[in-house]
Amino acid sequence: MRDWGESLIQWLPEGTVWFDRPLREDTTFRIGGCARLSVGVHAKDHLIEVVHQAIREGFPWFLLGGGSNVLFSDRGFDGVVILNRLDDLRLTSQDRIETGAGLPLIDFVRFAEKNGLSGAEDLAGIPGSVGGAIVGNAGAFGRNIGEILEYVDLISEDGTVSRMVPDDLEFDYRESKLKYSQDVVISAGFKLTQGNPPLIEKRIEEILALRAGKHPAKGVATAGSFFKNLPPEKPGDRRVAAGLILDRAGAIGLSVGDAAVFEKHANIVVNRGAATAQDVLELTSIMKRIAFESAGVALEEEVRRIGFTEDELAATEIVRAGNR
Ligand SMILES: Cc1cc2nc3c(=O)[nH]c(=O)nc-3n(C[C@H](O)[C@H](O)[C@H](O)COP(=O)(O)OP(=O)(O)OC[C@H]3O[C@@H](n4cnc5c(N)ncnc54)[C@H](O)[C@@H]3O)c2cc1C
Repeated sequence: MRDWGESLIQWLPEGTVWFDRPLREDTTFRIGGCARLSVGVHAKDHLIEVVHQAIREGFPWFLLGGGSNVLFSDRGFDGVVILNRLDDLRLTSQDRIETGAGLPLIDFVRFAEKNGLSGAEDLAGIPGSVGGAIVGNAGAFGRNIGEILEYVDLISEDGTVSRMVPDDLEFDYRESKLKYSQDVVISAGFKLTQGNPPLIEKRIEEILALRAGKHPAKGVATAGSFFKNLPPEKPGDRRVAAGLILDRAGAIGLSVGDAAVFEKHANIVVNRGAATAQDVLELTSIMKRIAFESAGVALEEEVRRIGFTEDELAATEIVRAGNR
């Protein structure tokens, strides 16, 4: 892999290829060992070529956007981490926007606002990239990004580039088919509606204020909600917040090493400074156990855990019996 990395340095822009770069630099949890090779890509052709070469060379590789929904192991990643930085952004018609998948989601939300387009407001404040949001069907306040998506252009596992529409992507709550493939989203098209600019702005500011009240302040190391909310108790109801169950189970105040449950939201784990991935695994195992003991529910991780062995992950599966 060293030789391949050296060859990338020859043709990629300066300062975009690193050996043994700590993954804490590229993740909002600020946890994880090193990636053997990290490559930042800022152009579509470079992304396609780097992915093609990684496939051809047979190296393990992982595509990272904003790094806000992942936990890397303390051993790091024994392969290449491709940092998607494709951040182009343009109007393609009066009510359509196309973005590079590496664009920060908030830049897309603000661009829609600037152009008087409504539909993306509720996504304001969700960290990470447009691509990461599509893969996990990110959302808040009952709205998910899949609802405004018109198409994605992606590199499939076999290296071909193609376009898919939402029906192909099987969106569900924090789910899409892309999560279970190595397909790479290059760019995305969104269809919005013409709106009233002051109302769009007001909604964004409301959302940001609501989030500021219950999420960790900017700069606090976290990956947001660690577990998914639970399916509604009966059809038509809202999902049951994992945070509520954890709060009732007494999760606030729990910590292992520097990994701690956030004091204002029992489903958020924060890194107080020097937390290890092992600390997070242990803490979240305890959270799963108390949720099961107090409410009979088996919480499922929303955060993607990378670079762990099957045994390490199995050890966190204290509860195997499923939801009661
Ligand atoms: C403080 C905080 C608050 C949060 N609040 C919310 C919230 O309200 N709602 C919500 O849904 N989430 C929330 N999150 C979680 C996170 O921000 C979202 O899941 C976000 O969409 C992840 O995007 P990302 O670019 O950071 O993805 P990453 O963490 O970089 O990657 C996540 C997964 O997506 C894959 N991926 C990323 N980009 C691509 C691409 N271009 N092509 C293919 N695969 C890709 C990665 O391989 C990985 O499997 C929050 C996180 C934090 C830290």
